[in-house]
Amino acid sequence: MGPLPKRKVSRSRRNRRRAHDSLTLNHLIVCEGCGEYHLAHHVCAKCGTYRGETVVEVEEA
Ligand SMILES: [Zn+2]
Repeated sequence: MGPLPKRKVSRSRRNRRRAHDSLTLNHLIVCEGCGEYHLAHHVCAKCGTYRGETVVEVEEA
């Protein structure tokens, strides 16, 4: 058996640990298409590319 946690983390302890997770907006990466920040694993809303490839054509407003 590999290394495993000794005991289950309780719901309250897990939630306490995650209490501060939303304080900073992480999961942001720099877009390869336009250089703006956008969410990782998401298509860029500004230029419609994902990892450098155009996925959606974005209409200019
Ligand atoms: Zn972009």
